[in-house]
Amino acid sequence: MKGLKVGIIGAGRSGMAAARFLRRLGARVLLSERGRIHGPLPKGIDVETGKHSSRLLDSDLIIRSPGIPGHLPILKKITRRGIPVWSELELASRYARFKELIAITGTNGKTTATTLVGEFFKTTKNPTFVVGNIGTPLSDVALRTTAKSNVVVEVSSYQLENIRTFHPTVSCILNITPDHLEHHGTMKAYASAKARIFENQTPEDVCVLNADDASCRRLATHCRAKLFWFSRRQKLKSGIYLDGNDVVIRWNKINSRWPLRSNLPGPHNVENILASVAMAVAGGVTFKGIRRVLSTFKGVEHRLEWVRTLRGARYINDSKATNVDSTRVALASFPGPLIIIMGGEGKGSPYAPLRSLIKSRVKRILLIGEDAPQIEKELRGAAPMERLGTLTKAVLRASQVAERDDVVLLSPACASFDQYRNYEERGREFKALVRKLA
Ligand code: ADP
Repeated sequence: MKGLKVGIIGAGRSGMAAARFLRRLGARVLLSERGRIHGPLPKGIDVETGKHSSRLLDSDLIIRSPGIPGHLPILKKITRRGIPVWSELELASRYARFKELIAITGTNGKTTATTLVGEFFKTTKNPTFVVGNIGTPLSDVALRTTAKSNVVVEVSSYQLENIRTFHPTVSCILNITPDHLEHHGTMKAYASAKARIFENQTPEDVCVLNADDASCRRLATHCRAKLFWFSRRQKLKSGIYLDGNDVVIRWNKINSRWPLRSNLPGPHNVENILASVAMAVAGGVTFKGIRRVLSTFKGVEHRLEWVRTLRGARYINDSKATNVDSTRVALASFPGPLIIIMGGEGKGSPYAPLRSLIKSRVKRILLIGEDAPQIEKELRGAAPMERLGTLTKAVLRASQVAERDDVVLLSPACASFDQYRNYEERGREFKALVRKLA
């Protein structure tokens, strides 16, 4: 990289990390951002803001940030000139050294699985790095990795669009459901973007796929790696599946069966667990380590996170549920009776898909935020509803009506921006309010 001219398009988290990294490698960096740049700039790099100018055409290499649309005129010109375009993942992975490189993608559950897989590998004696979309970009740690490292990386389909050599030892596609179609166009294009996670894998490598997901099954025919299927719904000849409450593993001479002990609620988390165990097994983690982690792992903050049990009622923070589908998954995770806090900045998608789950499991809906009237209108009759306005009032109200064995669930089905900076702030406030209840 020394002396090479590298243009970076987009100064988000991964673009900034790429800039720092390339600078350290001795490249001549131009960081180009259409908006403004937030946070401190790395020293010694060239910056342009408010535009992506033709100066970028002078680069030897372009790093494209996730979310920079392919139809951007400057990107078209760059491609026409034959300048290579990489993602930050492609760049960083060329410098990472590892024993195992585990890469996880999918529409839902990435962060949960990545965190859990990280915990599994931390039970081995080798150092483990948990990176990617989940927080720290791979660029920030790549130069600290060694041939003994386990690198666990959460990968988005955006990052996969611009890989060339990225080659995990263990890859995983958790599921593929319609999402981000505004970026990828068709479901087929979206699935193909995800399939690139295994395009450089060989029969020495392992690919973990969801046997219950039609798109995953279709993609498998293009995969050269050894397949490790997981299923929550069916017994598999080869792979990992749930039989009653037992985890059964039949794979590559391994034959193992043990009861699943985990604190993660919901069938979706069973899938995340099965996939994560498969990755750990493929990477050589012992069953002892795996089972110990499973029995203590509490999940990831703001995703069906247990906060407190007060007078027999459990309080659960699911602030990450910023859309209707996530709230549906949350409702399916508890048989009830539920008191659910919903509302916030609506995204314009219908709430009606929640109706039947609400009817059978929810005893009261407490509404907050901007979209409360819309929710009230669309779910009228499904369960008793009250408009409380703020989270403070809703938590207090919940504590007044909650009885033993109820679950009080914050799962808004809405974004938080009408009242909060982000869903994290909303979740933290919920937890603070719940902990203060007398
Ligand atoms: P991601 O990082 O892919 O956004 P998370 O682990 O952060 O995934 O989970 C986000 C939300 O996605 C959860 O709150 C839950 O509603 C839903 N979810 C998680 N895992 C799954 C799964 N395996 N299948 C379907 N939905 C899931």
